[in-house]
Parts: sequence; C-alpha cells; structure tokens
Amino acid sequence: MRSLLRWNTPHSIRSFHTTLTRTSARLRAQEKIAEIDSVSPFSTVLVDNFHRRHDYLRISLTERCNLRCFYCMPSEGVELSPSENILTNEEILRLASLFVKSGVTKIRLTGGEPTVRKGISEIIAGLNKFRPYGLDSIAMTSNGLSLHRRLPELIENGLTHLNLSLDTLDEFRFELMTRRRGLHAVLRTLDVALASLPYVKLNVVVVKGLNDSEVLDFLAMTKEKPICVRFIEFMPFTGNKWDANKMIPSSELLKVISERHPDVMRAPDELNDTARTWKIPGYVGNFGFISSMSDHFCATCNRLRITADGQIKVCLFDAKEMSLRDKMRSGATDSELLATIGQAVLGKQEKHVGMQDIDVVTNRPMILIGGRRPTSLSGLKYPTSVAKSHPSQRRFNSSSAGPRLTHLDHTGRASMVDVGDKHPTKRTATASGRIYIPRVAYDLVTSTYPAASELESPSSPSPSQKAVSKARRKGDALTVAHLAAITGAKQTSNLIPLCHPLAISNISVVLLPEVSVSDSGERYSILCRATVSCEGKTGVEMEALTAVSVGLLTVWDMLKAVGGKEMEIGEIMVLEKTGGTHDFTRITETK
Ligand code: SAM
Ligand code: SF4
Repeated sequence: MRSLLRWNTPHSIRSFHTTLTRTSARLRAQEKIAEIDSVSPFSTVLVDNFHRRHDYLRISLTERCNLRCFYCMPSEGVELSPSENILTNEEILRLASLFVKSGVTKIRLTGGEPTVRKGISEIIAGLNKFRPYGLDSIAMTSNGLSLHRRLPELIENGLTHLNLSLDTLDEFRFELMTRRRGLHAVLRTLDVALASLPYVKLNVVVVKGLNDSEVLDFLAMTKEKPICVRFIEFMPFTGNKWDANKMIPSSELLKVISERHPDVMRAPDELNDTARTWKIPGYVGNFGFISSMSDHFCATCNRLRITADGQIKVCLFDAKEMSLRDKMRSGATDSELLATIGQAVLGKQEKHVGMQDIDVVTNRPMILIGGRRPTSLSGLKYPTSVAKSHPSQRRFNSSSAGPRLTHLDHTGRASMVDVGDKHPTKRTATASGRIYIPRVAYDLVTSTYPAASELESPSSPSPSQKAVSKARRKGDALTVAHLAAITGAKQTSNLIPLCHPLAISNISVVLLPEVSVSDSGERYSILCRATVSCEGKTGVEMEALTAVSVGLLTVWDMLKAVGGKEMEIGEIMVLEKTGGTHDFTRITETK
C-alpha cells in the first residue's frame, strides 16, 4: 500500500519516467555496443592498462619531405634510413590489416611527407579493401605541396579525410618557416580538396613572434569555406630548438580571438579528437586548439603510431619503440606480431611527462616519427660515452665493425679508394658556410657605405675611411668570391691529396649578405652556398665544400682591410647529397 501511494505521487511518477528513460537509454547503448562488437570485435591487444581502446593508427609512409619546417626538422639534420629499412607496401598493408581486424577504425597516413612516397595510391587502395573489417576512415596529413594534381586519384582510391599543414598565408614567412617556396601550390591543393571533400582541416603550428599575428587571417578563411583551422602548440622534439618563450598557450590565442569575435562559442568536439573546437556564429567552418603542451589529452588518447621503418610507438613523447619490421622479416606469424603489438600497448604510460621534462634527447625528431633513430642516436649529437652506452645505439651499430676510414689501407697507410668497379651515376652535393663580418664590411658589400668621395674630408681620410677605399679598390667582393668558389671546386682533386678528379657538369654558387637579430644585437654575415653536380663514380661533397671554403676565404681577403680581426668563418657543412649509396639531408637553422 505504501509503495502504491508512493507511485501515485507526481514526484514518484516523474522519477519513474526518469528511471525508465535512463534504463532504456542504457539498454539502447548496450544494444549499440553489442551491434558494433558483432561487426568489429575489439581485441584486448589494443587495450592498455588504463582501459584505453586504441582504434586510431597513424602510419608514417616515409622519412622524406619536400619541405624543411624548422619546428619539425632538427638543425643538425636527419640521416635518412637506407631504403631497405623502410616498410614495403606489402608490410604496411599486412600490419594495417592486423590492426583493423583488432579494432582500428581510423588510419591516418603521415610522414615525413606521405605524398613523396611512391605507391601511396596503391597503399590507399589496399587500405580501402579493409573496410568490411571495420575501417571507416582513411585520412592523410600532408603539407599539400605536390598534391593538387594527385588528390582526386587518392580520393577515388579511398582517401576520406585530409589535414593540410599550413602555418602562414604570407609567401615570405612560408619560405622562412619551411625553408622552401610553395605557398601557392599548397593553396591550390586546398582549393582542390575543398571541391572534393566535405571539409578540410588546416594544421597551423603557432610560434610566438613568427606567425601568431596571422591567427585572425586564418579564422577569416573559415567564414565561407568548410575549413576547420586547428592551432597547434609548438612542441619540443629532438633538435627543433624548442623554447617555452616561442610557444603560445591556446588560452592566450583564444583571448585574442574573443577580443575580435566576442560571440565566439564552444562547438562539439569529434570523439577522441585532440582539438577543442570553437565556432564563430554564422561562419561555415570552425576552429580548434591542439594544446598538447598546456593541456595534454592523455586520458582519452586512442592513437598508436607506426614509423616508416616499422617501429610501433605508443606515445609521441615516449622514446620507447618496438620493431614490427624486424619481427615480420624474421618470419613472425600474425599472432606473434599481435603479441608484440599487445606488449607495446601494455607499456603505454598513463600520461606523458610535463612539457619541461619531455625527453627530446632520446626521442626522435618529428620528421622521423616515421623514421630511423634520432640524429642524436646515430652519432651526430650524442656525446660518445652516451651513444656507446645507449642500448638502442648498440642495436643500431650491431651489424657494422665500427667506424672505418676509407682512405686508409689495411696497414693504416693513406690510400686512394679504388672506384674502378663502380658505375657512374648522377651525383649532386650542396654545401654551405658563413663568414661573420662587421657592419662596415656588410654595408660595403651591400653598397650602403658612402663612397670615399662622399666622405667629409677625403683629403685627410681617417684610418677607417682609408680601409674602406682600399677594400673598394679590390672590386666587387661577392662577384670575385663567386668566381673563386667555382675555380676552387674545379681544383679540389689538386688540393686534397686522395680526392678523385671528377668531370663536373655544373657548379652553382650563391653568396647572400644576411643580418640576424638576437638578444645580443645584430650580427652581419655572408652565407655561401654551393651545389656541384657530376656524372661520376664518387660523390661531389668535397667539391661543394671546397667551393664554399674558397668562396668564404675570398670574401675574407676582399674585406680584410675593413674587418680582418673581427671576421670569423664557420658553419661549413654538407647540406644535401644525392646519387650515392645513401642520400643525405642536413638542415641548417634559418638565421
Ligand atoms: N609532412 C606532413 C605535414 O606536414 O602535414 C605530415 C607530417 S608532419 C610531421 C605532421 C604534423 O606535425 C604537421 O601538421 C606539423 O605541422 C606537425 N608538427 C611537426 N612538428 C611539430 C612541432 N614541433 N610542434 C607542433 N606540431 C608539429
Ligand atoms: Fe615536412 Fe615536417 Fe614540415 Fe611535414 S612538418 S612538411 S614532415 S618538415
């Protein structure tokens, strides 16, 4: 009776309805989960100790890239893995199929720059065949530089989502940030993508003092176009000279945006999306913040990564890796591979360390989160003692008998390398170097220094005026240095005893006066860059280095009257080499 009375009160009826609604909502959710599980059961292999289900896999297709973004490429450069270390298309598809059958529903192709990988179209077509197993999204993150023509074919083959990385809408700044030209090509890709896909995400890494002034311009793009701009906090990776002062927390950007757009409002986030989404009412597109640094999203992280050389990486900021490639190549069965994947997933930490403690020493640079060991581990940056003691370094070197000097014979005497059996190939090498000069010398070569006749008392010139006119009498410093660099390159085998004489087909030299500004003030320099090409049996790095060295020495000679003791030659290095057994790319800081 008491219970009946209770049921009859309006309150009890309301709570009964609430309970009923909740129960049926729960039942509906359970039915939905059961339905999903019956189509694509989620394997425990992809569930970690913190109950996170990893249904998103990022696959790096290559370590190579046609841009050189300063925040992604280390200034020391990256040594590319030998091509045989990179996963083949078949290996990629085998791994992808294992992941999809275990519960992955979204695959993103990345890199390096994924579009520079030959066969990307076939890889996408191969992934598309996994749809019946539950794969519903095939996405790609690209810089868009060489994509506009190929995008329709990739979409035709199954690509469903595109994230374009574009940090600036200013041509000059684009070149500064990516160390290459190409803004217009990227914008063309954006147009093609908008014409073919329902929406496009734009990734913008915001760096204080560099492109933060463009945030509102990016927002303006979302007014009439289905673009989702995602402002990414600048993250630290090996060699990218990350500095807390260059990072702008998303909260600061939001403040700037809401000053201009007071009606800005929060929009629903995509499930597990790393971006927090916002919208300006009336705008077609929206924008978001990826705040990896100020507000990490580890609790909901559902992603795993496979690097281009086949390592599984469970967290972007954790240097730990396991080689699925080695397992596959040693004949592992699918279940053995799954066991390794499961082991890696179980090793995933609850969250990554705070931004000040991120291990940029052993972790890879971003460009190689999809590549071989970080440069530090391949001996370019680590102090010898650390490199020797690091277990991954030992593994890396295990197949070689230690460093060997190619110009010594077995008795240790100097000897020329016999290249008689080698086939000639087209080879190029680029080197660069810099001479730091005082302001007066800089003004002289850039012709802003007044001619002797314009000076106040030409009849009794001061010592510095005399020095200027003496330097002037020698002629145009940069033209002379340019010619000297070319002559120097041609003389390399006469100067360096064990160098082979080569039939050089081209030498191109640039000498650029530059001013860099730092906390300690302005610094003046001349950058010399030389590219040498030949059809030959050995590389032309020595020729490129000689060209640069002779060019810079000539600048010294031409300017010594005004800047002798203060000048400084340095930073001479090979930037790029192609055509030998291993291509090589080294990136220098933009100064
Ligand atoms: N090359 C492709 C591209 O640029 O879109 C794909 C690879 S790239 C490594 C993937 C994304 O990582 C890009 O959107 C890039 O802007 C971002 N990225 C690289 N280095 C970063 C850093 N230090 N901080 C924040 N984002 C970074
Ligand atoms: Fe290349 Fe890295 Fe720039 Fe992407 S972010 S375009 S991989 S340099």
